[in-house]
Amino acid sequence: MSPTSILIIGAGVGGIAAAAHLAQHGLNVTVIEKNPRPGGRCDHFSRDGHHFDTGPTLLIMPHVYEDEFAALGTSLHEMLDLQRVDPTYCLVFDDGSQLALTSDLKAMEEQLEAIEPDSFQGFLRYMNEGYSHYQQAMQHLVNRDFRTASDFFNKRNLPLLSTLHPFSRHYHHMAAYFDEPRLKSAFTFQDVYMGLSPFEAPATFSMMPYTELAHGVWYPKGGMSRVVEELMGIAQQAGVTFAFQTAVKQIELNGNRAKGVILENGQRLEADAILANADLPYVYQHLLPPNEQAQQLAHKRYSCSVISFFWGIDRLYEALGPHTLFLADDYRANFDEIARDLSIPANPSLYIHAPARLDPSMAPAGEDTLIAVVPVGHMHDHEDYDWKALITQARQMVFRRLALLGITHLERHIKFETCFTPLSWRKRYNLVRGATHGLAHNLMQLGYFRPGNRHPHYHNLYFVGASTHPGTGIPTALISARLTAHRMLEDFGVDL
Ligand SMILES: Cc1cc2nc3c(=O)[nH]c(=O)nc-3n(C[C@H](O)[C@H](O)[C@H](O)COP(=O)(O)OP(=O)(O)OC[C@H]3O[C@@H](n4cnc5c(N)ncnc54)[C@H](O)[C@@H]3O)c2cc1C
Repeated sequence: MSPTSILIIGAGVGGIAAAAHLAQHGLNVTVIEKNPRPGGRCDHFSRDGHHFDTGPTLLIMPHVYEDEFAALGTSLHEMLDLQRVDPTYCLVFDDGSQLALTSDLKAMEEQLEAIEPDSFQGFLRYMNEGYSHYQQAMQHLVNRDFRTASDFFNKRNLPLLSTLHPFSRHYHHMAAYFDEPRLKSAFTFQDVYMGLSPFEAPATFSMMPYTELAHGVWYPKGGMSRVVEELMGIAQQAGVTFAFQTAVKQIELNGNRAKGVILENGQRLEADAILANADLPYVYQHLLPPNEQAQQLAHKRYSCSVISFFWGIDRLYEALGPHTLFLADDYRANFDEIARDLSIPANPSLYIHAPARLDPSMAPAGEDTLIAVVPVGHMHDHEDYDWKALITQARQMVFRRLALLGITHLERHIKFETCFTPLSWRKRYNLVRGATHGLAHNLMQLGYFRPGNRHPHYHNLYFVGASTHPGTGIPTALISARLTAHRMLEDFGVDL
């Protein structure tokens, strides 16, 4: 009997990892990717000796990577040369004060007490809660799938309603630990990784600052694209075939089954099952015939987007650490402008990454490679944008913030610039509305409420990646890949 054939649409992290799982179990897997290289949002480029990760720059939740690489039969630490980044971030506030987030408790105590007397005890309690949230959320919500309502709504999960604080807004919840607004923002800004405002995010997400400090933020030598290279090696060794610069135009259906895909070049490919790694709302809206779910998805909440600058710099800025975050005083207005008004904030919190601080080979000797990320609202459906003006506005905001660190003439030292806008994210990776993290992670779009890993009507059409379960991020894409691949294997009657 010929092996079950699987077509995977998209070579993002979720697509590659799922392909590897399926091929390792003897399935015949082909991955079709519209772009010339694998990785999806975990992308990179090089120019004149400067190397840029254009998406992820933080390897967080290292235990998840370890477990998921082990599930693929390899060892993370043998594959990647990892270094822990501590302090994880240097936070810079509008008044010029700074806080280096570190796992060195003594250094943390001194800094926190200087900002707010007695706050160190609050910090320890907050970390304790973060630990509890992390353990419970990973076990009961992230590391498993929800095939039926009763998988989610059951007696066992009932206690989570109080222990995970899902109904408390994260920022307001911080009042139990700190009075000082700078500290409340220092331990909630991570919500933006979920594409959420801390004024909306469930307090459950204290698991993020906890894992960053307790398990660490890491950096693979060579950058985050090394993760993709290693996954590709595993998938190719298992026999997966990849077709790049090949876009899928349509998923072909027959009754309640998917029978194959039609490519942009008109070619038809048949398969026993389809796994879509492309952004889930895009698949419903563009690759399937008009359907009710596509309309429902149009009304869901989408995560924010970002304007990113990639700069080759002709000198070194050694004073700039690997990860610097400028946090705005008007923290609330900032998030409201992004999440509610879907615009570029007047005074945005923003992030600067200097990879050469961690791996000098990321820039030519004596020069620097800088990435500046300005969170902005995702795109509206029918609006004309003056991208040039928005880019200029965002760039000036970065320069203004860098001046707080005494970096006043950066503009003169920029050798070249590449810039990604929400439109770039949409065009490059088919992300609906240019939302960098796909569907948002508010309470009503998590767990059983998030679109599942199998289509409710076409039972051989599956999903993997950020807009399906469990959600955004590289670790989560790896979990999503394993959960979906195992579900498919179960459906095909393959022994796990
Ligand atoms: C700016 C930014 C910063 C981030 N920072 C971090 C971080 O520090 N740490 C972290 O863990 N995560 C981070 N993330 C999130 C992380 O990058 C994503 O959650 C993850 O990479 C998503 O993987 P995925 O499997 O959903 O696939 P995607 O990356 O969405 O890949 C899907 C693939 O499908 C392809 N595709 C789409 N349509 C078609 C079609 N019609 N035909 C063929 N192929 C198609 C796309 O080209 C793409 O390659 C960041 C994301 C962004 C954008």
